[in-house]
Amino acid sequence: MLCRKCNSEGTLAIRNVYFFCENCFIANITHKFRSCLGKNTKLNLTDKALICLSGGISSTVLLDLVINGVSLNSHKKLRITPIFLHVTGLQDECEEAITKPLIDKCKVNHLVFHIVDVNQFTSTENDDINIFDIQHKLNKLSPTTRIDYISKVKQQIFYKMAKEFECNLIFTAETNTKLSEKLLTNIVTGRGSQIENDVGFCDDRHTDIELLRPMREITKEELYHYVRIKELNPYYGNNLGEGNSLQSIISKFICDLQENTPATISTICKTADKIGSEEGNKNKKYCKTCQNKIDVKSTKLTAVAAIAYSKKVSCNLKSESIHMEDNILSESSVFPHIYESLCYGCSKNYCEIKTEI
Ligand SMILES: [Zn+2]
Ligand SMILES: [Zn+2]
Repeated sequence: MLCRKCNSEGTLAIRNVYFFCENCFIANITHKFRSCLGKNTKLNLTDKALICLSGGISSTVLLDLVINGVSLNSHKKLRITPIFLHVTGLQDECEEAITKPLIDKCKVNHLVFHIVDVNQFTSTENDDINIFDIQHKLNKLSPTTRIDYISKVKQQIFYKMAKEFECNLIFTAETNTKLSEKLLTNIVTGRGSQIENDVGFCDDRHTDIELLRPMREITKEELYHYVRIKELNPYYGNNLGEGNSLQSIISKFICDLQENTPATISTICKTADKIGSEEGNKNKKYCKTCQNKIDVKSTKLTAVAAIAYSKKVSCNLKSESIHMEDNILSESSVFPHIYESLCYGCSKNYCEIKTEI
């Protein structure tokens, strides 16, 4: 088979359909990364970007793409000042194995790399809802809640560090595949209204810092070819104990889709661009944990009210006095701080955290 770009021998196949030689493949991935940024945003030389790296395969590729971009000497140079960040202390992984390749690569290229430990954020503030206060109890949570909670903690740290380093941009390494998983996960965990921010190219819920996802047109399959050709060493974590989570079930579902009907993945991802929150929502309250707009409490019967009601009923089987009128009251007794300072998803997490402590 011939490379679809240059007609030399195609040594790798994407989706078993598109053949590339190695050079054209790398050029194609670089193009996808740059055009995703170019199409959606205008970068200036004064832009300072915090590049968040987990050490996994997608962030290893992001690191390589950014380094290649900023070291170009042509008009194609990536016009940002990058600062690299890795957050430790959230999972029981071998941190040195994760961070060493990242540190080495940044050192060789004279770039700034920071490691922050999540424990340094533990606050003694007397605040009932403090996202950093329960890290040591993470293992007691259900896998689904734990994964969701960790992602929100990380997100808060990204913004805190971006502020500290005076960055106006944050780059994360989520691929097309990852974002499709995130979209479906958001829907099943009751974060459907947050898809726009969680899955779209740009998350601008913070006015002064934009979070961008420049790898959103690259797939997981392409990452594996990229690291093999470029001989990169990503950390392949084994995520032990996450097997029973909703996220891992969705991830497996997406993985099967990718193998059997790969075009579906980009369709899922593109759907996210079309989902926006209702403009009429004048509520100016934001969730303390995830910074999303909190849904307005509706006078109609909502899914949250229905869940609260059935939770209440199943906890009070012997009690005879459950009336529909209690329904409105029971929403906030089952889901603490809901509509006030937490969104439904975060209130659900908070509820589980409180019962475990
Ligand atoms: Zn070629
Ligand atoms: Zn929230």
